[in-house]
Amino acid sequence: MEIEKLRSEIRRHDDLYYVQARPEISDQDYDKLMRRLVELETAHPELLTPDSPSQRVGGAPIEAFTQVTHAVRMMSIDNTYSEAEVRDFDERVKKLLEGRKYSYTCEPKIDGVSLSLRYEDGVLKTAATRGNGTVGDDVTHNAKTIRNIPLVLKKPEARSQKPEGALFDADSALGTQHSVLEVRGEVFIARAQFAKINAAQEEAGEEPYANPRNTAAGTLKQLDPKVVASRKLDFIPHGNGEIAGVEVDSYTAWQCLLGALGFKTSEHFVQCKDVDEVIAFLHKFAEVRKGLPYDTDGVVIKVDDFEQRGMLGVTSKAPRWCIAYKYQPEQAETELARVVFQVGKSGKITPVGEFEPPVFISGTNVYRASLHNYDEIARKDLRLHDRVLVEKAGEIIPYVVGAVTEKRPKHAEVIERPKECPSCGSKELEHEGGFTSCRNASCPAQLAERLRYFAGRNQMDINELGEKLIEKLLEKGHVTSLADLYRLTHEQVVDALKRATTTGESNPSKAAQNVLEGIAGSKGRGLSRLLAGLGILHVGNRTAAIVAEHFGTLEKLRAASVEEIDALPDIGEVVAKSLHDFLHSASGAKLLDDLVALGVKADEPRVERTGPQPFAGKTIVVTGTLKALKRDEIKKKIESLGGKSTDSVSKNTSFLVAGDEAGSKLEKAKKLGVEVIDEAEFLRRAGG
Ligand SMILES: [Zn+2]
Repeated sequence: MEIEKLRSEIRRHDDLYYVQARPEISDQDYDKLMRRLVELETAHPELLTPDSPSQRVGGAPIEAFTQVTHAVRMMSIDNTYSEAEVRDFDERVKKLLEGRKYSYTCEPKIDGVSLSLRYEDGVLKTAATRGNGTVGDDVTHNAKTIRNIPLVLKKPEARSQKPEGALFDADSALGTQHSVLEVRGEVFIARAQFAKINAAQEEAGEEPYANPRNTAAGTLKQLDPKVVASRKLDFIPHGNGEIAGVEVDSYTAWQCLLGALGFKTSEHFVQCKDVDEVIAFLHKFAEVRKGLPYDTDGVVIKVDDFEQRGMLGVTSKAPRWCIAYKYQPEQAETELARVVFQVGKSGKITPVGEFEPPVFISGTNVYRASLHNYDEIARKDLRLHDRVLVEKAGEIIPYVVGAVTEKRPKHAEVIERPKECPSCGSKELEHEGGFTSCRNASCPAQLAERLRYFAGRNQMDINELGEKLIEKLLEKGHVTSLADLYRLTHEQVVDALKRATTTGESNPSKAAQNVLEGIAGSKGRGLSRLLAGLGILHVGNRTAAIVAEHFGTLEKLRAASVEEIDALPDIGEVVAKSLHDFLHSASGAKLLDDLVALGVKADEPRVERTGPQPFAGKTIVVTGTLKALKRDEIKKKIESLGGKSTDSVSKNTSFLVAGDEAGSKLEKAKKLGVEVIDEAEFLRRAGG
């Protein structure tokens, strides 16, 4: 059958790409296979199985997490910064094992979050966070999107080599007998991927994330698996919970078995015959870790033999057979000499600390570091002229760990928020939580950033408006607002172009003509791209598209209340308020009026609604897991048939479509007496 063939083909390519790192086909060809599979499964929903590779792209959002009790407790690990304490640990092990021969394993301590995966008869059943160690959250829907977590375990090849002295029965791992394998490991975000996520955040006008670990933790707790899939998390196994139906006698054997079952295991896992070899590895890995593509903060040292682990036992908190050695982070002390303010594209004013003298950390001089926001400054109790400790997150981004309060000088001062914008002097500042923003839409520091963004490929797409040209246009005062772009004269552009190139434009008159045509051509891009291009706080391309599609014209959008914007699917209150505030601020309103007066089109081309409109005037809410339709598909269907799809049940709701495992919305609908129908009834009303 085509569907099964496709699935095994995709699984094979997943393994080649994510585990073995030697892909055989291009990403485009892979996407084609995946699209074909999704197509087949959509046409034949009865053939969709929970272990299908299509689950990787993320299913419907869930409403809340359920809790899972771990079959074997997820304990924490004792840790130390001292080699002497590692030797003390070895002395205790030696004493408790009463002269038996033992060995250790060492592996990197990756800076991420722990996850426990439960496989029953080779199929992933649940994935749970550590929680309090006894009970965690069920995050199976999210774990399935992590590409190097197998949904189905591979059948180990007969020739897969058992390590020296280790034992596991590969045949029983996926054999006929009942098996349970709980695989524990670390979920993390590689440094390069983290940089991409932050670039996308900034693109959307959002605050960048502080470090990969917190981002991984936050991502795993997302309700919408599509968001998780987009973040491209990684997983490396580092332990086990319950094991049944498979013979495994040591941690080394467990690692080998996991490799044979299709996991990507750590390439820096080693066996050490004694504590001297362990210490030697700690020294060697201190250098190796600097070149790894992900963050590590130490090495986990474990007694290898499972029977000996049993003899050593556990304390109330941690196992006695395991210790984590942590590397001292490279840190330096200096004076927080000045705080300067940087104005971003959306007007956010970020406090930046400058150090005197600069400090040398992980290979570079560090002169300054972002202090992020005023909540962070308060939390760390930082004062101007404090002695502060500086580190680098992931050995890349410098940050202030905290103040050395016992060295606080008498002249230390509280760090105040700016009273006016450091760039334009505007006193129209907005203080929201820990953040302060300049609300002047024509603020010059914001303007260069905003012009670049406005002209970007996904916004107004003015290819001819290069970075150098923007700089010169601003410098000459030819442009003082976004609207001025559409007021530029031929002479002004020629003038700026002459200055933008050192060699001089060969035909500045013709080049200027191209620029002006490019700018004029952008007038017809439509409301969605226009809104996206304005760089409104929290309003990126996706939000702009949703808003433009719903309201259709700028006029209608301006007449909408915060509540009406908030009611749109996937738009939250903070986003709705930010957009509404912009539209009704003096500077925002003027900018839009100017743009429209200059001929910029502020309507969205409408998708014509033809055919029957069975849901005209109806407000419909969908909840629970549906069988035939995905969440965004049913929403589209409702809209295309004249209805309105909203996210919360109220007395104005016409009816609720409830799928499996519907929760609080179903309760509320019943309480309010709102009609509840199932998916089949919905499809019948929709006309099949
Ligand atoms: Zn300003």
